Amino acid sequence: PEPPGPQPIRRLHESLINRIAAGEIIHRPASALKELLENCLDAGSTSIQVTVKDGGMKLLQIQDNGCGIRKEDLPLLAERFTTSKLTTFSDLSKLTTYGFRGEALASISHVAHLTVITKTKSSNCAWKAAYVDGGLVPSKAGYTPDPKPCAGNNGTTITIEDMFYNTPTRLSALRSSSEEYVRILDVMTKYAVHNSKVSFSCKKAGSLSPELSTPSCSDASQAIRQLYGHSIAKELLHVTASSAWSADAYFTNANYQGKKIALLLFINHRLVESHRIKRSIESIYSGILPKGSSPFVYLSINLDPRSVDVNVHPTKREVHFLNEEAIIERISDAIQQRLATQSQSRVFEYQT
Ligand code: ADP
Ligand code: MG
Repeated sequence: PEPPGPQPIRRLHESLINRIAAGEIIHRPASALKELLENCLDAGSTSIQVTVKDGGMKLLQIQDNGCGIRKEDLPLLAERFTTSKLTTFSDLSKLTTYGFRGEALASISHVAHLTVITKTKSSNCAWKAAYVDGGLVPSKAGYTPDPKPCAGNNGTTITIEDMFYNTPTRLSALRSSSEEYVRILDVMTKYAVHNSKVSFSCKKAGSLSPELSTPSCSDASQAIRQLYGHSIAKELLHVTASSAWSADAYFTNANYQGKKIALLLFINHRLVESHRIKRSIESIYSGILPKGSSPFVYLSINLDPRSVDVNVHPTKREVHFLNEEAIIERISDAIQQRLATQSQSRVFEYQT
């Protein structure tokens, strides 16, 4: 058969391009939630309440009591690369807040219905605005789409509805609302451990009692007890290590044998993944746990922001940083030593 001849090259519609790009950043309700939680924390919130319908696909609402957004900033809010957190390229290296590229809300507005209600302390009312495709929802011909005044508390409520209504392939890639809900709870639980002073709650729309609720805890170990339970909390060890960087680790001893590894890894306060760190932890525990059982490990590392490769795509949860190997080795050694002294003292206890 004849090989097919060349086909004409055509430009994709801009809205389609934006939708595809947005889908790379927002994979599922839980990835939207992660971005929004980070925004709440950046805004200095001490209380964050999440409401979910259909695993976040129908509704995902996040209410915080942070600094709010000024009315005059609302028109720009969902435009791509608009941010209050970065103004020059050199800022990239100094950046300590979570978000830095102004892409989260923009992306969400391309794949879902987005509404914002927000009030700053100095404003005497709240403002409500709805977004589509990177901007305010246009109002009737001839009128500029102003945010509308409304009643509301200090802080921001972000409402996302019908996620992926216009991207059926993304929608069909999601398995089930219960699986998405499990992922939502997982992200929230991890942020709640890392931000123990902030109170978090998560509930299904219409339900009276939240599935997840933490009061503001005194420290990480109290938050771990609240969220992961007594069986983990009672076997928890703690070490810190530091140099030009610092690390704080809470991890279970050999008495705890979980089915699946629970690894909460935060680098500069962002929930990330690192295969190197995971492998290193697995190898420590392979020496002390029976085959098939796994530990709980919460590890928070703070590095000079200049040494973390932040200029990667925001969905690249896998991070890399300078002197990675040496730093991981120091942390692993500290964990290993702590586990070793603990098991020695246990042997000692048994002998006496
Ligand atoms: P980024 O976080 O990278 O700046 P986002 O799209 O996540 O980008 O947010 C854009 C801007 O909207 C932020 O820089 C911030 O000024 C504002 N913002 C978003 N969420 C909140 C919130 N919960 N409270 C206060 N301001 C917010
Ligand atoms: Mg952000």
